[in-house]
Amino acid sequence: MKIFTIFGDPVSHSRSPLMHNTVFKTLGINACYTRTHLDDGALLKETFFAKKLNGANVTVPHKEAAFQACDEVRGVAKEIGAVNTLIEENGRLIGYNTDADGFYSAIQSFGSLSNALILGAGGTARALAIVLRHHNITPTILNRSKNRLSYFQDNGFESYTWETFMPNTYDMIINTTSAGLSDNHLPIDETLLTTLLSRAKCAVDVIYGKETPFLSVVKKASLPYKDGSNMLLEQGVLANILFLNNQFSAQEIEPIMHRSFLL
Ligand code: NDP
Repeated sequence: MKIFTIFGDPVSHSRSPLMHNTVFKTLGINACYTRTHLDDGALLKETFFAKKLNGANVTVPHKEAAFQACDEVRGVAKEIGAVNTLIEENGRLIGYNTDADGFYSAIQSFGSLSNALILGAGGTARALAIVLRHHNITPTILNRSKNRLSYFQDNGFESYTWETFMPNTYDMIINTTSAGLSDNHLPIDETLLTTLLSRAKCAVDVIYGKETPFLSVVKKASLPYKDGSNMLLEQGVLANILFLNNQFSAQEIEPIMHRSFLL
């Protein structure tokens, strides 16, 4: 039997076991996906091999530690500096980032976009900034404080703090902050957000499973929008393809994994 897990702290809320186990069961794959609570990211690699895992996902706050732990990092994860999917390959730990391409798949229904404003400057913001730039959608970063902006400045992205921000017109407004996750905060000032949304074509909140204050303001602006569940689904589909070594396509996996959202 193949064994997979998700590492995180906290991890009890994760939907990934249900998503992946639904696919394994439906396709008749002899595999099992569990949760592993890990508080020390430095123990990721030894825990992975001690559990004899075939693969894993990594969530908050260990994606950067996972990047460091890998023997080899492939694809867009190299630029992002964060890994959310691990695969065992001939005794080596291989790292990927499926959040980036998962987000890009999730926004396809919005049609053509030329620029975007990313609220927040954490690991998720990095993944989104890189993938948007790859697809010729110019991202601008707006963060509450300065420290996390250095990655974006070093990589040539236009980036601002609340104090230095000079608003422009953006096709898409994306919330990648954790504001609204377990509180009732907006990621930026409400008047500014309303003005930005009045000029935008669409909006995304990467948080899923609840209507955040950000999404409530978006709804009032009557824009097309998505919460984070589409990104969650798409990153999971891409991880599952890696887990099963390309045995099944995204078209085969996606409807099955989507069904797990209704369970
Ligand atoms: P990080 O901890 O790396 O970054 C958090 C960011 O949020 C920072 O920029 C921080 O600003 C900002 N922030 C936190 N609180 C506030 C606030 N009250 N007001 C304004 N800004 C705030 O988080 P991640 O990038 O790892 O994750 C961010 C979110 O994305 C989480 O909610 C996570 O659940 C979600 N996520 C969803 C996924 C999906 O599949 N849908 C996948 C991955 C993540 P500062 O620098 O000033 O502290």
